Amino acid sequence: MATSKSAVIDHTQRDPWSIAQEQFGIAADRLHLDPNMRAILAECQRELTVHFPVRMADGAVKVFTGYRIQHNTTRGPGKGGIRYHPSVTLNEVKALAMWMTWKCAVVGIPYGGAKGGVVCDPKMMSQQQLETLTRRYTTEIALLIGPERDIPAPDVNTNAQTMAWIMDTYSMHQGYTALAVVTGKPLSIGGSEGRNEATARGAVYTIIEAAKHLGMDLEGARVVVQGFGNAGSFSAKLMHELGGKVLAVSDTSGGIFNPKGFDPNKVDAYKRETGSVVGFPGTERVTNAELIELDCDILIPAAIENQIGEHNAPRIKAKIVAEAANGPTSPEADRILFDKDVFLIPDILCNAGGVTVSYFEWVQDLQNLFWREATINARLKEVMVKSFNDVLDMSKKHKVDMRTAAYMVAVHRVAEATLTRGIYP
Ligand code: NAD
Repeated sequence: MATSKSAVIDHTQRDPWSIAQEQFGIAADRLHLDPNMRAILAECQRELTVHFPVRMADGAVKVFTGYRIQHNTTRGPGKGGIRYHPSVTLNEVKALAMWMTWKCAVVGIPYGGAKGGVVCDPKMMSQQQLETLTRRYTTEIALLIGPERDIPAPDVNTNAQTMAWIMDTYSMHQGYTALAVVTGKPLSIGGSEGRNEATARGAVYTIIEAAKHLGMDLEGARVVVQGFGNAGSFSAKLMHELGGKVLAVSDTSGGIFNPKGFDPNKVDAYKRETGSVVGFPGTERVTNAELIELDCDILIPAAIENQIGEHNAPRIKAKIVAEAANGPTSPEADRILFDKDVFLIPDILCNAGGVTVSYFEWVQDLQNLFWREATINARLKEVMVKSFNDVLDMSKKHKVDMRTAAYMVAVHRVAEATLTRGIYP
């Protein structure tokens, strides 16, 4: 595929569904959530497993397994990406769907949480096979998806082209063009301005708010970013634009470090030319593990899950950890960082800029009225700043860390919506 996201759950670590349950449980305890409500929100509302045939290049037929899960659609249609990876499991997709419910609730956008995945190795498949697989998978999950029902988006190893195929397949079944069935589409078929940078831009808005809260000056603040893909490279560039000093960045080949800082735009150009950030002139090499522990003010994990655990959390030196990635910190590390007074901006808040601009894309598609990038960025800022302060207020009120506070805000909103709607019949 043209772009691929290498972030995957590390299965040598804990089962993601048990982590999702534990995080939900902590917030539910703090909120003294009614046991009936707790039972409702702890489960996924719909779990669709599909097995479907695809004819491969050699003429043989291979049967693939895929999932589409809707954790909760009380606040609106399901929203969440589709992941193509050999290690996709039902429990991983369930956890990701639950996290989407909380993410959409914490930023107050009118969606529930959903997620999809296909067990496959896209790196071993041709474009033609990927298109066939995508079109058949779309047909299988058409039971659940739709502009008013459940709106997929790109995730690991899927991209704007995949979304174009899904939109086209769904539209062929309907007999008319349904732009709003997916987000993260190319601009030429109803995609949104600003979607590419949205996750990083949203993360940086939360960092600005965190710095205000801590009385930290971002001018000259030392920034370390793990991962130099979509979320990481734009985060580094935006922090540089704000006057931050980017000391280190990394990718799968390793990291680069210069205590005096460097221009991430030049690193980006270097990576485009050479395929990696490693070897960028004027920097020394560090491993990804060393990078996490570098002396800095702001650490932005923007690569994969499970990067900060019990083993390295005691040695984190950053004052702010901004989780542009999903799930980079374990629940055990959360407790260590909180005790060390590290200010953590949790993933469901920090990287919610992506889904927020996806929401803007859906709104534009439904209205057939498209906004300028400046309008999108201004609206994104409004959402991120308000959400950050809602979470901060909750954390102050209940004297809890920012992750627990974000979960409390989100769970409270979904519980309130459920209570207001009532239990059918
Ligand atoms: P991406 O594929 O564009 O970039 C990932 C980067 O991480 C690449 O530079 C890759 O080389 C690097 N990387 C992979 N494995 C690594 C490792 N073991 N150590 C260090 N670096 C490694 O992906 P992305 O879209 O930027 O996503 C990154 C994270 O952000 C993921 O956790 C993703 O779920 C999360 N996220 C992304 C978006 C979005 O809109 N792109 C939205 C919300 C959350």
